[in-house]
Amino acid sequence: MKKKTIQDIDVKGKKVIVRVDFNVPVKEGKITDDTRIRAALPTISYLKDKGAAIILMSHLGRPKGKVHEEMRLGVVAEKLEELVGQKVLYAKDCIGPEPQEMAEKMEPGDILLLENLRFHGEEEKNDREFAKKLASLADIYVNDAFGTAHRAHASTAGVAEFLPAVAGLLMQNEIGIMGKALENPERPFVAILGGAKVSDKIGVIQNLINKVDVLITGGGMANTFLAAQGKNMGKSLVERDKLDLARSLMEQAREKGVDFLLPGDLVVADAFAADAQHRVVSVDQIPADWMSMDIGPASAENFGKVIKSAGTVLWNGPMGVFEMIPFARGTEEIARAVTESQAVSIVGGGDSVAAIHKTGLADKITHISTGGGATLEFLEGKELPGVAALENK
Ligand code: ADP
Ligand code: MG
Repeated sequence: MKKKTIQDIDVKGKKVIVRVDFNVPVKEGKITDDTRIRAALPTISYLKDKGAAIILMSHLGRPKGKVHEEMRLGVVAEKLEELVGQKVLYAKDCIGPEPQEMAEKMEPGDILLLENLRFHGEEEKNDREFAKKLASLADIYVNDAFGTAHRAHASTAGVAEFLPAVAGLLMQNEIGIMGKALENPERPFVAILGGAKVSDKIGVIQNLINKVDVLITGGGMANTFLAAQGKNMGKSLVERDKLDLARSLMEQAREKGVDFLLPGDLVVADAFAADAQHRVVSVDQIPADWMSMDIGPASAENFGKVIKSAGTVLWNGPMGVFEMIPFARGTEEIARAVTESQAVSIVGGGDSVAAIHKTGLADKITHISTGGGATLEFLEGKELPGVAALENK
């Protein structure tokens, strides 16, 4: 279903309330990574250029319905001011007389940031009255917070009942690019799935088996599939209770004609540590006391060839324990193959995005998803409440 966006409506002279994801990491009163604030800038500058007054709302951290001084959005207001190069008004609450008065006085182009939504317990309860109070500040509602779109909260879902509701540019980008990959991909469509566990990604694997031409698995997840094929995995992380499921998923892939690729060699170590002894072995020769930490060089090369000839590549989950330098190689090689291919490339998932930034190749990826849980739910084929609440085209 195509959703209306800010480009489909007239915002001139209107007050527009925008749900953004400003849930940035803050250490000792300083923002340590402003990526999420930057991600909202296209929508903010679009609305400003079109003559709207912009009211921004977000959560930060988990204050659980109480005011926590260290979770106030004042630091975000300062950072935003620096990034947009203009005064940003900041209300010390998100509802009530203060934001009401400030909103009433706003002129086109003004920017107002409301206080942390989650200082009110009603936000996460999707309370109707609370949503109505937020809506009363503006004429139009925009959701640009893809990262929280999998939650039905007052600011992501409830508020849409009271105002015309459309997607911002970041939201449009996320659901547009990933939606096309799922519905009408350039082929061959290659998915690369890794990370720690099969159990975290069952829904994603299940959905992708119906869409892709090739499914590559690596990381800890591959261990469970290899064990299901009868390989002796030594001390590797294996989900013993998921062996039947793993077999059934491989069977489904076979029935659908999906190429299901597993690593043929692995980097194994004698301990789960960066300074452990390690070596490359075939998946048939894992020493009993050793564990898989990364895909091996032959696997990286084989996977790389498939990736380079893809039309669409969707990647979730690192190929190894990339946080430890000796075991980051497989993930780096795959990142290189993805960026060397002509494919539309999409990377999603918290650790996967961190890994791609570590390789320094992030700017060569077509789309890096800003969601963690939201991205996974989208890839599972679920309709996200924050997207469902928006008007259809
Ligand atoms: P994402 O956040 O991108 O969805 P996950 O959270 O599923 O990814 O997986 C990332 C984690 O998987 C990393 O912390 C990484 O160390 C771990 N991992 C990858 N390969 C292995 C392995 N062979 N054994 C244990 N852990 C692994
Ligand atoms: Mg993770």
